[in-house]
Amino acid sequence: MTPHPVQPAPAGLVLHPGSLRSGWCQVCKAWTHITADLVLIAPDGVTTAGTWAWCEICDDPDHPLPARRITRG
Ligand SMILES: [Zn+2]
Repeated sequence: MTPHPVQPAPAGLVLHPGSLRSGWCQVCKAWTHITADLVLIAPDGVTTAGTWAWCEICDDPDHPLPARRITRG
């Protein structure tokens, strides 16, 4: 096997989530919608990378709502 060269991470780049704002999710009708401004901090300046919005319930496939487990026997 030939070892792959390790590429260093871009120096000085920091992706910083701005202030979080919680809100009302219109899909699941719960106060679980979160909006965050993404700020990319680079050595040459600060750039607004965009806005990240998601719902804790709708957009969390890794952690779906806990299934109601019914213990049978
Ligand atoms: Zn939702």
